[in-house]
Amino acid sequence: MLVGEGAERFAVAQGFQRETLLTEKSRKEWLLWKETHSDWWGPGIASRDWRNRFHPPAHAEEWEQRIRRMQEIAADIGIPPELRMEAIRSVIFPPTGTIHCSTLNEKGEMSGCTTTAGLAWKIPGRVGDSAIIGAGCFTDQDVGSAGATGSGEENVKVAGAHTIIENMRHGMSPFEAGMDALNRLVRTYNSDKERLQFIDMTYYILRKDGAYAAVSLWEGYELGKPHQIAVHDGTRRLEKTVNLFPGASQDWPPVRKVAS
Ligand code: ASP
Repeated sequence: MLVGEGAERFAVAQGFQRETLLTEKSRKEWLLWKETHSDWWGPGIASRDWRNRFHPPAHAEEWEQRIRRMQEIAADIGIPPELRMEAIRSVIFPPTGTIHCSTLNEKGEMSGCTTTAGLAWKIPGRVGDSAIIGAGCFTDQDVGSAGATGSGEENVKVAGAHTIIENMRHGMSPFEAGMDALNRLVRTYNSDKERLQFIDMTYYILRKDGAYAAVSLWEGYELGKPHQIAVHDGTRRLEKTVNLFPGASQDWPPVRKVAS
C-alpha cells in the first residue's frame, strides 16, 4: 500500500497527471480548521492523557463567543459571508463520507468495497481503516462480505471486517458476527463507556446465502438520527442498525472552551 508522497511519485511515474482536486471553497474551509482547530489531533482516547483533552461542554455564551471568533477568522481568510456559517459548521462538526457496499449477484458471486475521503480534517499520511483490507472491508467468496464506517483507528485494532467474516465462517449468523466484533471494540477499552462514548462503528454484513445484518456501537451520531443502511433485494429501503449501546456517540475531541 502506497500513501502520501510515495504514492504520488509512483502514480506520476506510471503516467498519471498531477492535478489538484481541492476546490477553493474547500481549501478555505481547511484554512479555517487549521487556524481554529489544528490541535484536533493529539492524544486520543487510548492515551493515558486522554482526560487532559476533556472539557465540559461549552455553555451557550461560550458557543456564541466561539462562533463570533470563527466568523472573524473566516472573514480574514476570505470566506464569503454567505458561506461562513457553513464553513464553521463543518469545522465544528466534521462531515464524514464513507460508504461501504457489499453485493451478491444471481450467480452467487460476492463483491465488497469501501470508498472514502476518510475522516474530515485528517492529517497528511493518515490512512484510516477504509482502505485496509480486513479492517474497513473484507470479502470471501465462500462466506460473505463485510465493511465498516466509523472510528477508523479503533476498527483497525480489531480487524473488524475480517473478524466478522471469520465469525460467520465458524457458524455465527451475520448479526452475531457483527455484535461479536463490536464487543471486541468494547473490550479494547475494558467496557469503559466514558471513553467508548467518543467512538462509533457501523458494520455492514452480507452472508453468502443473502442473510444480512447491520449493527452499530451507538444508536447514531445524534439522538433521533439513527445509523441506517440501504438494502436492495428487489425492493429498495433504509433499515436502522441494531445498536449495542443506547444513546448517541459524542464527537472527539470533546467541545473545547473558546479561546478569548
Ligand atoms: N472510517 C473512516 C475513517 O476512519 C471514517 C468514516 O467512516 O467516515 O477515515
